[in-house]
Amino acid sequence: MNTLAHPRRVERLITGQPTSDGAGVKLTRVLTQDLQQRLDPFLMLDNFASDDPDDYGAGFPDHPHRGFETVTYMIAGRMRHKDSAGHEGLLQNGGVQWMTAGRGLVHSEMPEQEAGVMEGFQLWLNLRGADKLCTPWYRDIQSDEIPEVTTPGGVRARVIAGHSHGTDGAMQREHTEPVYLDLRWPEAAAVFEQPLPTTHNAFVYVYRGSLEVVDAQGQTAPVPLHRMAILTNEGDGVRLRASGHAQAILIAGRPLREPIAQYGPFVMNTREQLMQAVDDFRSGRLGG
Ligand code: FE
Repeated sequence: MNTLAHPRRVERLITGQPTSDGAGVKLTRVLTQDLQQRLDPFLMLDNFASDDPDDYGAGFPDHPHRGFETVTYMIAGRMRHKDSAGHEGLLQNGGVQWMTAGRGLVHSEMPEQEAGVMEGFQLWLNLRGADKLCTPWYRDIQSDEIPEVTTPGGVRARVIAGHSHGTDGAMQREHTEPVYLDLRWPEAAAVFEQPLPTTHNAFVYVYRGSLEVVDAQGQTAPVPLHRMAILTNEGDGVRLRASGHAQAILIAGRPLREPIAQYGPFVMNTREQLMQAVDDFRSGRLGG
């Protein structure tokens, strides 16, 4: 069932960079710093997926953040987080932690398993300058609190943020208006459509199977496994087709169009603000 008149096309396919972060967690950085302008308001996307505890066991010991939001989506596994404000929570199988770092905190994200699969995503979503020093906040969203909708074509959408097919997501955000969907195609061929405003920058990342992005003329652009497709902004949404079981995340947001200054875990508008963040961290004023 096609409802879009002019679906977006693929502008560019991206292969993630293998890297490690924290105390040596192996991961793939899909959205790297050179894509921050193009994919504003998103600053980073990491995909971690391993069944080898040597790849993830060391976790992410105490580290700071300031100036943006982190959205951690666990497909499989258990991760415990603790922060300097005394908050603690367990993120597991299908759940999301949405954290607004705001003016800053120090936290740890440590695996709570010694074997088995650890798989998921961490997305960094920018805050506008006026909100960068807001009070830190977070919400642990358990898997059963994430609204789901199944389209007539049989595609199951987990609506983490924004709206899809008449279903409100678990989170809504002013200013950046993020859409974050985890899409799961059945064995049978099926099409999924999502309307998107042209202002929103959008991308798809495939983590099971493969997809095609279909345009108004019916022409297709393949999106293979473990690739991110950056979508053009022209068009009224995106039409995604899979010919068998596939899973992908679709992420879109309204750009802030502000200067981006990043130094590691701090993302501000200016270099002076970054220096202040480093100074605040070193002197214990961040998350103290
Ligand atoms: Fe962190």
